[in-house]
Amino acid sequence: MKRRIFIMKSSAAAAAAGAFGLMNCKPQSKKEETATKVLEENRKNWAGNYTYKAEKLQEPNTVEELQDLVKGPGKHKALGSKHCFNNIADSPMEQISTKNLNRAIAIDQDANTVTVEAGIRYGELAPELQKMGYALHNLASLPHISIAGACATATHGSGVTNGNLPSAVSALELVTANGGIVRLEREQPNFYGAVVGLGALGIIVRMTLDIEKTYGVRQDLFQNLPVSALQKHFDDIMSSGYSVSLFTDYQNDTVSQVWVKSRTDRELKDFGSFYGASPATKNLHPITVMPAENCTEQMGVEGPWHERLPHFKMGFTPSNGEELQSEYFVGRENAVDAYMALVALKDKIYPQLMISEVRAIAADEYWMSPCYKRDCIAFHFTWKQDWDEVQKILPQIEEALAPFGVLPHWGKMFTMQPDTLHSRYERMEDFLQLANEYDPQGKFRNTFLDKNLYRTKG
Ligand SMILES: Cc1cc2nc3c(=O)[nH]c(=O)nc-3n(C[C@H](O)[C@H](O)[C@H](O)COP(=O)(O)OP(=O)(O)OC[C@H]3O[C@@H](n4cnc5c(N)ncnc54)[C@H](O)[C@@H]3O)c2cc1C
Repeated sequence: MKRRIFIMKSSAAAAAAGAFGLMNCKPQSKKEETATKVLEENRKNWAGNYTYKAEKLQEPNTVEELQDLVKGPGKHKALGSKHCFNNIADSPMEQISTKNLNRAIAIDQDANTVTVEAGIRYGELAPELQKMGYALHNLASLPHISIAGACATATHGSGVTNGNLPSAVSALELVTANGGIVRLEREQPNFYGAVVGLGALGIIVRMTLDIEKTYGVRQDLFQNLPVSALQKHFDDIMSSGYSVSLFTDYQNDTVSQVWVKSRTDRELKDFGSFYGASPATKNLHPITVMPAENCTEQMGVEGPWHERLPHFKMGFTPSNGEELQSEYFVGRENAVDAYMALVALKDKIYPQLMISEVRAIAADEYWMSPCYKRDCIAFHFTWKQDWDEVQKILPQIEEALAPFGVLPHWGKMFTMQPDTLHSRYERMEDFLQLANEYDPQGKFRNTFLDKNLYRTKG
């Protein structure tokens, strides 16, 4: 028998109910509450490196209210939890935040899916799923990001068999430029253009995600992995757990840390002598000299999936990060060559680098995903917040990785030329055609899209 469990959870609903729990899902009727917010001065993204230029910020409380805003004149752009480092979420006129559209709506136990409003953050949804005995397949390093915003830029965690976070999406509802709602389901052709949509097609208001029975995870960390072992055994090392991350600064002939996250409902791999690395003897921060108290529990201690897959604890809200981030994707078969190309740049990279992380992502079908039809390895860089200097390094990294068809993370800093992006995205023209269909007047276009996708000044 089909079982659909309704869960309603939003800041407003929770306050009224006193606690989260099972409730009948009734549409919120908050039309009387105004959605308009006058622009605050110097409204910045999470890292504080970018000040939004949008003249206005809207925070609708209902889907209907959001539709009315989109129907109105001018340009609009969806704003999630503001974690992108570049101007992708900005608008020349109006940003529409999904912050108040943050309910988990229903679990379908037959289909193994959960339907959520687009603005809910992974860190809000995960504990609710866990309470009901369910889990997602993967999470990013930080749980504070909105689900639609994360999927829009192809956000990912790690794991050679794990697709990025959008790979869990099975359906979505999108408010397009005329204010109408388009529903797309997996297997419909346009679905693969819309999930990783860079906010270019409209504003997603609901998403349905695949879920599975909850599972436990343990983290085992190793230090000082010889680069020579990485060169010989890269695939085995990245396959040594459900999700594996390498942390390095490319400075010497070792990788400083390997984080192996293993599912406890699957057979644990025998780590043996772990390719010459030493088992960590205490919890570690990815930057070894930093205190580890905000990191998720390590030392092989089992915990639920959502308390181990992110590197940082859910309860820990990081202050605005004084950092910049970049990330570059290459095909997995090129991983070792790409790693060594970065080692060759180590003297250039080092002065601005805080830490670099190497992760694996399985191939997917999303037109604008850097992992479209290719298993990838991603090289992430956390930089000091000094764009003048960082922007001198990025073209060198992009050039060094060019032989491997490198692509940048859409939500992080890059300097790659639009023509290069076009030449490496096989489905770019299909995507632009879809954007034109849903948004013929360019309501959702902004400087980022004009430059990188439309190759105009806007
Ligand atoms: C500390 C930190 C850690 C991070 N860790 C990771 C990581 O582990 N892996 C990884 O891949 N990335 C990571 N990122 C990058 C981050 O996941 C992406 O930047 C992501 O897009 C942020 O989501 P957001 O909701 O904050 O998006 P925003 O910055 O608010 O918006 C991003 C894009 O999504 C669009 N968008 C937002 N909501 C909607 C909607 N409802 N409908 C349509 N479009 C929408 C916006 O228009 C914009 O184009 C990290 C970022 C930070 C700051």
